[in-house]
Amino acid sequence: MTIIADVQSPKEFAELWDEFHITTKPASNVRHADIEKFVGKLASLGLTVEEVGRSYGNRGIYQIEWGKGETRVLMWSQMHGDEPTATSALIDMFAFLETRKNELEWVKALAESVTIRAVPMLNPDGAELFQRRNLQFIDINRDARRLVTPEGALLKRLRDDWEPEIGFNLHNQQELTTVGSTFKQATNSFLAVSGREDGSTYEGHERNKRLCSVMIGALNEFIEGNIGRYEDDYNPRAFGDMISRWGTPVMLIETGGFHGRDESYLIKLNFIAYLTALQSLVDGTQETADPLDYESLPSNSTGTLFNYILRKAIIVNFAKSKVPFTADIAINRERRRADQTPPVFVQEIGDLDDYKGLDEYDVEDYFVVSTTGLLKIGSRGHLLFYKKARSINWDVRDLTKTFAPDGEFKDGLWVKPLGGER
Ligand SMILES: [Zn+2]
Repeated sequence: MTIIADVQSPKEFAELWDEFHITTKPASNVRHADIEKFVGKLASLGLTVEEVGRSYGNRGIYQIEWGKGETRVLMWSQMHGDEPTATSALIDMFAFLETRKNELEWVKALAESVTIRAVPMLNPDGAELFQRRNLQFIDINRDARRLVTPEGALLKRLRDDWEPEIGFNLHNQQELTTVGSTFKQATNSFLAVSGREDGSTYEGHERNKRLCSVMIGALNEFIEGNIGRYEDDYNPRAFGDMISRWGTPVMLIETGGFHGRDESYLIKLNFIAYLTALQSLVDGTQETADPLDYESLPSNSTGTLFNYILRKAIIVNFAKSKVPFTADIAINRERRRADQTPPVFVQEIGDLDDYKGLDEYDVEDYFVVSTTGLLKIGSRGHLLFYKKARSINWDVRDLTKTFAPDGEFKDGLWVKPLGGER
């Protein structure tokens, strides 16, 4: 294989994505009809697009193919309907590869040495409802053994008929997933799946570790410290394990959150990761990458990070005892499409000194009351704030009419910000 020297740096990939990406809306707002438009656009650019199957709800499932080389790479995304980031990244990746294949030496070399097939939206019914499961309400990623879902059976057929050497299994994880013992969000997490019950390794698995290291190296230029290693527990019902076991070693790439950045940034990170990995197959860096960059990543962790923490709130449950007490309040947000307001729920009340919120507010100078009169776990976190210097009669019939609050927190937003002093 000729080694290509003229390559794109991760920063150049980022700029290229900024310039031209064809996905024009937040990934979470992309529905099946949008995918049909996107794959139609890819077909008009010259890519091979095929409807390879139908979902349980009879929606078309599409596969895109690019390149004419010997090494076969299979990528699939949105097996879980509410995990959309990689779907858009794949569309943009193919548009890039096709439009640059005569222009960039490494893309030309890639097209000659690799064939890529990708299913960008494996679970279109789940995507339509923005739910994890398919329309049989089965988690497709727990159906690798029984193959009762048309989507899971299709994925197995696409693998078995083609026997690719490299697999990319693309998902989203919770935005509150953290890296090791830090409070840093795991914006991306990687797993080179062994697919063997005893976790033993072999060359395809080692190569995937090196590919993960290549992607980690690229992403470190943007999100160093925010990359985790996905927990490696063999599951005979999961496709990552089974596809590896059937002969296609799989890399799992999870996308989480990055506080303060929107979904387009996450699409861009995935775009950079995939293209750097593919480029490494022709510029020689895959072979020389250090698997330790991947192996030494801290593992994913959960449970220490919340969306919001209100510190030292003086809570008054006016529907109950009315005796104020001081506690921290943690509130989490559920995953929703970008065009919807995500519901928030009180997740924890008490001593949260060892925990962190993506957003934290010091409210020690305020009485805090729930609009329901009783602040409890699972309530909607609609909170009213009263300066502690005020004397409030918590027994009045209509509290907010008699005593206007000094602040109001609803749906994760300060609909009435605290005081003017901040
Ligand atoms: Zn998933």
